[in-house]
Amino acid sequence: MFKLLDGKVVRDEIKGNLRTVILPMKEKPVLAIVQVGDNAESNTYIEQKKKFAEQIGAEVRHVRLPDAVVEDAVIAQINELNADRAVKGILLQLPIPAGLNKEAVIETIDPNKDVDGLTSTSVKKLWSNTKDGFVPATAKAVISLLDYYGIILEGKHVVIIGRSELVGKPLFLSFINRNATVTLCHSKTNNLKETSQKADILVVAVGDPEFVTKDFVSQGQVVVDVGINSVPANGNKLQEEVADRRLVGDVKFDEVKTVVGALSPVPGGVGPLTVASLFENLVQAVNSRV
Ligand code: NAP
Repeated sequence: MFKLLDGKVVRDEIKGNLRTVILPMKEKPVLAIVQVGDNAESNTYIEQKKKFAEQIGAEVRHVRLPDAVVEDAVIAQINELNADRAVKGILLQLPIPAGLNKEAVIETIDPNKDVDGLTSTSVKKLWSNTKDGFVPATAKAVISLLDYYGIILEGKHVVIIGRSELVGKPLFLSFINRNATVTLCHSKTNNLKETSQKADILVVAVGDPEFVTKDFVSQGQVVVDVGINSVPANGNKLQEEVADRRLVGDVKFDEVKTVVGALSPVPGGVGPLTVASLFENLVQAVNSRV
């Protein structure tokens, strides 16, 4: 029987748990979001985080820096937030302008406040499975989704398509840490369809609308679609400038659904859960001593 992996249900459960933990706190935990420039997609994501924070009793402090800001000024801003006791978590909203050294800026974040899990301290902790580090929110969201629906990871063959630093690589480590056997695929992988078909659990994070068709999947598989792509509502992928748009994933939902055992939708799958996972990291940061 087909199972829809509905992320909204899981998000609501996490939201309730977070509210219960945060409401008795004497000080509202503050998440500082540092944004450089005015990227429209980033603005949308920041608004989602602000709304979620309000619902659970946390606070978002949005620090907006101009596009032309110099690197030293971004670093100084982050150091100021590092020193601010009320600020429990710091997130650098990506992307930042190409002229800034992203690694240097991220590395400035106090590892105890690194709720996005991108500093070398957090990466090392995920790598060594010490469990007290911060796991990047999207990877954490995928694991929470599978756990909620009782999907066993231990011993399973997981195939991930996409090896980005933000999604694919942290997911690879998260699954390994849960005793799965993982194949990490990318644009140079040979026989991608055959490899994908062999998975017990297939996770897709490619950034290409409806990339995974029924030729990639097999009966009974669990498929998690991480992709978020805005396409023209009339279905023509090539019309970039069309105003009437809809969100689709990296998986061709209607087609793949007829073959696999479980599938997450887009919208309504991993996306809503990612924000919740970020705020789980913020609560973790309140007592963090890494
Ligand atoms: P990214 O940095 O562009 O990485 C895409 C990955 O897909 C790369 O590793 C790339 O391989 C691989 N790839 C591209 N074309 C491929 C192909 N034809 N065959 C196999 N692999 C291919 O993207 P990302 O940041 O990981 O994001 C991926 C998707 O997830 C996007 O739709 C994004 O919007 C979405 N996303 C969702 C959330 C959420 O909360 N749900 C969070 C973050 C991202 P190479 O490394 O070889 O180039």
